[in-house]
Amino acid sequence: MSRRPLIAGNWKMHLTLSKAIELAQTVVTTCGKCTDRDIMIAPPFTSLAAVVATVRGSSIHVAAQNVSWEKEGAFTGEISPIMLNDLGVSMAIIGHSERRQLFGEDNDMINRKLHAALGAGITPIFCIGETLDDREAGGTLSVLETQLRKGLEHVTPKQLTGAVLAYEPVWAIGTGKTASKEQAQEIHGFLRGLLTGMYEKNIAETVRILYGGSVKPENIDDLMAQPDIDGALVGGAALNAESFERIIRFR
Ligand code: PEP
Repeated sequence: MSRRPLIAGNWKMHLTLSKAIELAQTVVTTCGKCTDRDIMIAPPFTSLAAVVATVRGSSIHVAAQNVSWEKEGAFTGEISPIMLNDLGVSMAIIGHSERRQLFGEDNDMINRKLHAALGAGITPIFCIGETLDDREAGGTLSVLETQLRKGLEHVTPKQLTGAVLAYEPVWAIGTGKTASKEQAQEIHGFLRGLLTGMYEKNIAETVRILYGGSVKPENIDDLMAQPDIDGALVGGAALNAESFERIIRFR
């Protein structure tokens, strides 16, 4: 089955309000009416509302970089999926390796966040990835399988339909090192196989699996030519309008 490619930009903790609006405007100019690919941008929370307003009327999706598993209450500093939905945010990055490594998020928390997002109508971009130590110890596949199974615990086939998974090897994030197209395809094929076993083939086929880790204009075409790579989650190169435009216009 054909899955519509998704090119997603994670702006991390970058850009003040005016710079975020400016960059969002360039993305709208580049691909605001594209129908053959989906584009998502994930600004910091402080710019979410303004970026939603900037892309209104276009086909660009806006995502949060994180979400609480709670609906509301005494949770200082947290943002609930209901609040995001209310703002017009349609997606949320969940389980990014920086959240796992720097902010102590574990598979259980990530599972709770996935359920909260799904319950509020927010499409999760569920990130998994192995560290360099995992890879060198030969543990890549088992680490990924654990992250996938635990993250998706009690997620129903209906909820999984149309969800987005991102394979982001931690050793490739922000390092300039990219997994080769063969390495990435091997893992994406493995993950789709796992999803097929956990759900059904026709459900697994609807899940878009993005690759993330030093994606740039120079490697996007090769990555996107792989059968199980359905898009990219882009960090550094998404902050530069020209680079992100070239990535959006992958060939
Ligand atoms: C990311 O943060 O998800 C990412 C892939 O970053 P970069 O493209 O900078 O490696």
